[in-house]
Amino acid sequence: MKKTDLSLCHLEKIQTPFGLREVYDSILFCNRCGSCLQACPIYKLSPLEINSPRGRNQAARLVLERKLNVQELALQHSFHACTLCGRCTQVCAAKIPTAQHVLEMHRILQKHRLPKSLHFFLTLQGTRPHLFKKITRFASALYPLWNVISWLPGFKWISLVKKRLPKKAVPLQTVLLKNNISWTSIKPKFIYMPSLEAEFLQPQIAVSSLKLLNRLGKTDCWFNTACGLFEYVYGDLRQSKRLVRNLIRKHRKIKQGTCPLVTDSLDVYHFLKQVPQLFTRHKQLYKQASLFADQVYFITEFFPKKIPNVISFPTPVQLNYGALFSRESHPISQSTSLFKTLFKQNFVECGYTSFDTPAYGYAFTAGNQHEQILLELVKQIAQQQIKTVFTFSGLCALELNVALCRFYPAAKAHHIVSIADKV
Ligand code: SF4
Ligand code: SF4
Repeated sequence: MKKTDLSLCHLEKIQTPFGLREVYDSILFCNRCGSCLQACPIYKLSPLEINSPRGRNQAARLVLERKLNVQELALQHSFHACTLCGRCTQVCAAKIPTAQHVLEMHRILQKHRLPKSLHFFLTLQGTRPHLFKKITRFASALYPLWNVISWLPGFKWISLVKKRLPKKAVPLQTVLLKNNISWTSIKPKFIYMPSLEAEFLQPQIAVSSLKLLNRLGKTDCWFNTACGLFEYVYGDLRQSKRLVRNLIRKHRKIKQGTCPLVTDSLDVYHFLKQVPQLFTRHKQLYKQASLFADQVYFITEFFPKKIPNVISFPTPVQLNYGALFSRESHPISQSTSLFKTLFKQNFVECGYTSFDTPAYGYAFTAGNQHEQILLELVKQIAQQQIKTVFTFSGLCALELNVALCRFYPAAKAHHIVSIADKV
C-alpha cells in the first residue's frame, strides 16, 4: 500500500526559509512541540487540538496518508476557520508554513468558501476585467438598494459588504486627475499596482502611493490588474498560475523585467514574493518567477529617509500586523523600526499573542470566527488606550474601523501609506 498519496497535492513544492520542500515533507517537519499554540487566534478562541496549528498539520499529514478523510465535518471546520495569518510560522523554530498546508487541504476539499455570487464576481477581475469594472461601478450606483438586494437568495453577503464600505466610490482615474497625479507607461522608473480597495474603494491610498513614487521617478499605474492572489486563496491554482504568468510576461516587457513593481497591500506583496513556488516543475518559468519576485516591493520601502519629528496623528499608535501568510516580512520589520523612531514611547508594539485583523475576505468565508477576533482585537486596543492603528492593507483598515466605530470610537485605523502624506 502506498504510504502517502502525493497526487492529492496541488502545489508540488512549498517555498520555506530552508528551501523548497514537498508538501508532505514540509508537514513532516512539524515536531509537535506546541510552541505555536498561543499564537494562533483560532486556538485561543476555541482551545481544542484540532483548532491549533499543530492539530491542523497532523490532520493534513493523516489526510495525505489516506488515514483521515478531509471531508469529515470537524476537519472542514478546522481548516475553514484558519485565517491563514502565518502567526504560527512566526513563533515556530522549524518555520512550518501551516497556512500553506491549510490551503492545500482547501484545494483537496474543492469547496467554495465564499458565497457563490461573491466568488463569481471576484473571479471576473481575472477573466473579464472590463466587465468587473463595469459591475463595480454599477453596484456602487445602486448603493441605496443594497439592503433590498441582500434579501435575494445567495446575496446575503451584500449586507456585510455594505457595513464595511464607504458610501460613495469615485473612479480612481478621476481622483488622480483631480489631484494632479500623473502616471506614464513611457520608460517608467516604477510600476504601481493598486490593490482592489485602493482602486475601487479608497482612492486616497493610490493618491498617496503615486505621489510618493512620483517624487522618486516616473511611475506607471497598472489599473484593474488581477495578480492571482484571489484564485490562489479561494479559487483554483491553475487560474492563479495563468494570471501570475500574464503578470510576469507584462512585467518583462518593461525594461526586461528590471522595473520595481510596487503594491500597497501586504497580502499581495507576500503572495507575489512566493510565486516561484507555483512553477517548480518548469525550470525556465521558475527562473523568470524568481527574477519577478525580486522586483516586488511594498510601498513603505519608498518612504523618505528623513522624517520630521512631529507627526500629527493622535497617540499612542499601533501597527496592526494583519496580513496573509506571514508576520515576518521585510516591510513589517522595517515599518516597526520606523514607527519606533517616529513615535518613540507613544508606539505600542503588538506581541506575538495579540490579535490582528484577519485578511482578505475572511469575514465572508464559511465557518469564520471574524466577529470574535475583531472583538478581542478592539478589547486589546481599548485596554492599551490606542488612538491610531495603522494597517498594511486598506481592507484591514475598513474592517477595523467598523468594529472601532461600534465599540471604541476613540481610535481610528488608517492604511500605513497615510504616514507619507505627513512627512
Ligand atoms: S508548527 Fe512548529 S511550533 Fe507548531 S507544533 Fe509544529 S513544530 Fe511546533
Ligand atoms: S495560519 Fe493563523 S489561524 Fe491558521 S493555524 Fe496558523 S496561526 Fe492559526
